Amino acid sequence: MSSLTSREILTRLVAFPTVSRDSNLSLIDWVEEYLGRFGARCRRTWNAEETKANLFAAIGPDAPGGVVLSGHTDVVPIDGQDWHTDPFELTERDGLLYGRGSADMKGFAAVFLSRLASLNIAAMDKPLYLALSYDEEVGCLGIDRMVDDALANFARPDFAIIGEPTSMQIVRAHKSINVFRTVVTGQAAHSSQPHRGAGAILAAGRIIEHLDAIGRSRRAEAGDSGCEPPWTTVQVGTIQGGTAVNILPAHCEFLWEYRGLPGEDPEVIIDAMQTFIDEKVLPDLREFAPGASVETTPIARVPPLLPDPEAKAEQWVQRLRGVRDGGSGAVSFATEAGSFQRAGISTVVCGPGSIDQAHQPNEFIDPAELERCEAMVDDVFAYLYRAS
Ligand SMILES: [Zn+2]
Repeated sequence: MSSLTSREILTRLVAFPTVSRDSNLSLIDWVEEYLGRFGARCRRTWNAEETKANLFAAIGPDAPGGVVLSGHTDVVPIDGQDWHTDPFELTERDGLLYGRGSADMKGFAAVFLSRLASLNIAAMDKPLYLALSYDEEVGCLGIDRMVDDALANFARPDFAIIGEPTSMQIVRAHKSINVFRTVVTGQAAHSSQPHRGAGAILAAGRIIEHLDAIGRSRRAEAGDSGCEPPWTTVQVGTIQGGTAVNILPAHCEFLWEYRGLPGEDPEVIIDAMQTFIDEKVLPDLREFAPGASVETTPIARVPPLLPDPEAKAEQWVQRLRGVRDGGSGAVSFATEAGSFQRAGISTVVCGPGSIDQAHQPNEFIDPAELERCEAMVDDVFAYLYRAS
């Protein structure tokens, strides 16, 4: 097979409809076969049902150092969106390439896969790692499994670049995402006799009001992280409970989240919540209903990307061609970067396409962004070669 251009590979990748709720195995199979041509040593890690896989590939010498280029294979759904082209067929219009995942973020994978044809493997003295994850869009559920397995089987790389769409600018920090379900179990009774039960909705209301108070206090502590907005945000997204106005509700549950500033310990808010529940809400709830309970379970935890005080990856990536000037910034969207950073790898986010197109109908990427990314990937390869 002759070598494929970034655009040709992007056409293939977009054609796999890898919406997070569905399997990504057709894409993974295709990429693994393609990587076989370059002698890649591939490892898969799986979700519990084995319907989705991460793919981690090593190319070049089995040596410490080197670089990870990382992206996610899943895309957000197209349900309810008004698309003017087939979302799963890459289509050029007015010089732009339309398709679901073109920007977020199959473009990056298409670039690094296509440039492999130019990689001089015999000249490498540091390895290249390629990482493709599942379930990023539903809470970064796959990535930790892949990173753990990679570190157990390969030496630690120097740098990781996560190619989320940043218009080829460097992102050095982002917020954490922390999503929870809280279930309040009270005890049903006639509403005229609240001393014979416990109303779950009023108790949930107290917890939610406390969450709001935490959120407001965070706003007063806005930092200079560069995130927009520059404070930790707290939100409640859904709530259910109750059956009738004259029955004390036995059940109320709500989904809530906070997005913490990069430098903030993500445990602080959940710990403050739990203390409030234990000290204030539960004693009142149990006054007439000893079996009442409040259970909070994490749904998704995405660690922040912390600004690296030594700025190793940042300074290195700044020197690569294709990367836009303008310094490095912070963003409010989360990525898988924190998982690499926690593993001791200096990490930045930098990739082709704009976050403004991500998750939107008629998502597109400008081919000029792919060209910039090709230049960056070529310079990444040059870094891996033996000093001559
Ligand atoms: Zn993404």
